[in-house]
Amino acid sequence: MSDYKIETKCIQSGYQPGNGEPRVLPIYQSTTFKYDSSDQMGRLFDLEESGYFYTRLQNPTNDAVAAKICDLEGGVAAMLTSSGQAASFYAIMNIVEAGDHIVCASALYGGTYNLYAHTIKKMGIDATFVDPDCTEEELDNAFRENTKAVFGETIANPALVVLDFEKFAKAAHSHGVPFIVDNTFATPINCRPFEWGADIVTHSTTKYMDGHASCVGGAIVDSGNFDWDAYADKFPGLTTPDETYHGIVYTKKFGKGAYITKATSQLMRDLGSIQAPQNAFLLNIGLETLHLRVQRHCENALNAAKYLEGHEKVAWVSSPSLPGDKYYDLAKKYMPNGTCGVITFGLKGGRDAAVRMMDSLKMIAIVTHVADARSCVLHPASHTHRQMNDQELKEAGVQPDLIRFSVGIENIEDIIADLSQALEQV
Ligand SMILES: *Cc1c(COP(=O)(O)O)cnc(C)c1O
Repeated sequence: MSDYKIETKCIQSGYQPGNGEPRVLPIYQSTTFKYDSSDQMGRLFDLEESGYFYTRLQNPTNDAVAAKICDLEGGVAAMLTSSGQAASFYAIMNIVEAGDHIVCASALYGGTYNLYAHTIKKMGIDATFVDPDCTEEELDNAFRENTKAVFGETIANPALVVLDFEKFAKAAHSHGVPFIVDNTFATPINCRPFEWGADIVTHSTTKYMDGHASCVGGAIVDSGNFDWDAYADKFPGLTTPDETYHGIVYTKKFGKGAYITKATSQLMRDLGSIQAPQNAFLLNIGLETLHLRVQRHCENALNAAKYLEGHEKVAWVSSPSLPGDKYYDLAKKYMPNGTCGVITFGLKGGRDAAVRMMDSLKMIAIVTHVADARSCVLHPASHTHRQMNDQELKEAGVQPDLIRFSVGIENIEDIIADLSQALEQV
């Protein structure tokens, strides 16, 4: 980890060119890498030596961008994935086997909910979803003998529930399992979950990190803090010999790098959800302005929330940055500098009014995305979460009338003018 401030890390971390080398991180647009001796190539395949040989496993462009994200989060090792979904999948699959179980905060991104509630269930992995506002005792009761991880989102998309890190970290650690946090919405600019007890962080880099809605991507960062050997029985994949690499034991051979090395050399090797180096290059350009954009997103979101809160046709507004919000105090504790640019609101006219207002917007577009430079809206009950029934929606913190508003970095006066004229149509 470098000693620079976070703004400097956004620009300087990950890639340091040597004398006469390109100033800007190059795109290594190559699937493969050349060696002079067959013996050396063999040592790479045995993980006896580190080096590049095939982009599905590692690529220098991707590694530089992963190193930057690692530094931003304050971790010890990181990897990029092809999408946020792949990051959420690998982060869990790296430490579970059929017959295992995980505990998740129920306020989750719709795709993550599907993945953990349905898809990994078919692979024999069970998930218990707990209300993020549950008591310590209720949380404790969700654990089983075979529980291997606890998962939650810093700020849930789209419920905007702020996760009580200390409560979840304490529960995870008292049961000898890692606490995994999806930090997509807060970004490391506003929150670094490792400082609050998280062991592993995941990202959909598709959102604020890229910030321009140009490439889908993900990342996994390891704090290096979880002691796998102390709970060796629970995590045989990390603590017993891997026969596919001549019996190496990841924790013995790679120490604090064990988790990411295993995810790269086993999961990426076998499942292949690699981020294209071209996308990693674009992601890196996004990261260079992350600190500036996140600040403006948050400022605009708070102003838009205050405007909506004062409007006669608006029934409710939710933003953890808004004084009086249910999660205001938790947000102040874990994210004193701001939360995210996404807010939600409902209209007095309910679901029909929501649809009518959205259709009347001129600049603010209806898109299945959040957290890029352009303001946009979405109606989760009829879009991202439409596969859920009303009970599941409620558990995920999504009311049927909820409009998710991702406030962009345009001039706030133009954003408010568009809201205003659309509300007049309702
Ligand atoms: C979008 C999103 C994901 C999934 O990421 P993709 O890059 O779309 O695969 C995961 N978690 C959160 C919080 C998200 O917003």
